[in-house]
Amino acid sequence: MSNDKSKSLFEKAKEYIPGGVNSPVRAFRAVGGNPLFMKRAKGAYLYDEDDQEYIDLINSWGPMILGHAHPVVEEAVKIALVNSPSFGAPTAREVEMAELICSIVPSVEKVRMVNSGTEATMSAIRVARGYTGRDKIIKMEGCYHGHGDSFLIAAGSGAMTFGTPDSPGVTKGTAKDTLIAPFNSISAVEKIIDENKNEIAAIILEPVVGNMGCVVPQPGYLQGLRTLCDKHSIVLIFDEVMTGFRLALGGAQELYNVKADMTTLGKIIGGGLPVGAYGGKKEIMDYVSPLGPIYQAGTLSGNPLAMAAGLAMLKYLKSNPAVYNQINQTTTKLVEGLRDQIAKAGQKFTINQVGSMFTLFFTDANVIDFDTAKTSDTQKFAIYFQSMLSQGIYLAPSQYEAMFISNAINNVEIDKILKASEQALRQIKA
Ligand code: PMP
Repeated sequence: MSNDKSKSLFEKAKEYIPGGVNSPVRAFRAVGGNPLFMKRAKGAYLYDEDDQEYIDLINSWGPMILGHAHPVVEEAVKIALVNSPSFGAPTAREVEMAELICSIVPSVEKVRMVNSGTEATMSAIRVARGYTGRDKIIKMEGCYHGHGDSFLIAAGSGAMTFGTPDSPGVTKGTAKDTLIAPFNSISAVEKIIDENKNEIAAIILEPVVGNMGCVVPQPGYLQGLRTLCDKHSIVLIFDEVMTGFRLALGGAQELYNVKADMTTLGKIIGGGLPVGAYGGKKEIMDYVSPLGPIYQAGTLSGNPLAMAAGLAMLKYLKSNPAVYNQINQTTTKLVEGLRDQIAKAGQKFTINQVGSMFTLFFTDANVIDFDTAKTSDTQKFAIYFQSMLSQGIYLAPSQYEAMFISNAINNVEIDKILKASEQALRQIKA
């Protein structure tokens, strides 16, 4: 396989863009090698600048549920484009989008559009803080909520420590208001609440985690958080940037039958264009400007192209609920194939799957939180990744990410992925 064009693009990119990429994970640091520069994609397949073809298991980190360049989305964007890509004024599409989200996501009564998942989570905690009049938030170790200062906080050594900044530039003042608990531990959250009586504004988490690899909430965990939030008047925020409209039409909240007070949404509701949203109970959302005192704004928020793409995809999903059975079954088939294969190869592994999200961890630990995720052998993952890539399978370039299956992936692709995986596993053994 020739990667010459990607290689020279990366060299040039590094001169002008920090690390040569506009988002760090794309640089392939965790797996080594040269990142591929993509030129086009259709359905299940990506094509790089050297015209190599790849089966895409990232799908733009979630949003391409229907596969790439789906005609329904493409047509909607074309129509919006000829009428100008931006007005900075209200549009009918925004109203339709808001109504659609409120009718689908169980707990959302009002919603505000923004431009990314980062903006959605930053805004949501500002609103939760303004609404409750409290400063502190609880975040789960290993969950990612974008690059807002309050979320770039490492765990320290346990649930009781104050957070320490994970990135230079995040002030100690900001970090001290983010308290960290391990995912799946209700007792850790209870302890933090006890030690910070009437000071916690919000608990925020990915209800099914994608960002330390796929990690599943244990039975009773989400409900347990709901009960604690009710008892202590804390705003429960589900960050459904990856899970909303993917795990079910109504996201993880529908799947697990637990309602959040606020929900953050992202890339999926833009069908591949830059979008985010945060929403929730009316009594909370009514604190947002211009109705209430909490300021949040955006020149391109509710952008016509993004709304057109997102609406087209969400309406398609709403009227074709069979898509969910299809992507879930495809994922299960792939995961079962991988399990058989890896067990035969004698590798230590764990696969976590919820619906069309999954991660193959190179550890035999039961991966339920960040500590257990970190027992993975990342060197083995890197070998597996490179071998898969050289065979035309595009996996997320880090052990600590989830794969996302699109509706364009069918039996032909599953067979190709499994065949490549068999070969990749042999390389690990060698
Ligand atoms: N929340 C979650 C759960 C995410 O996975 C991400 C990004 N992958 C974000 C927030 C941030 O979204 P964005 O990259 O659009 O800012």
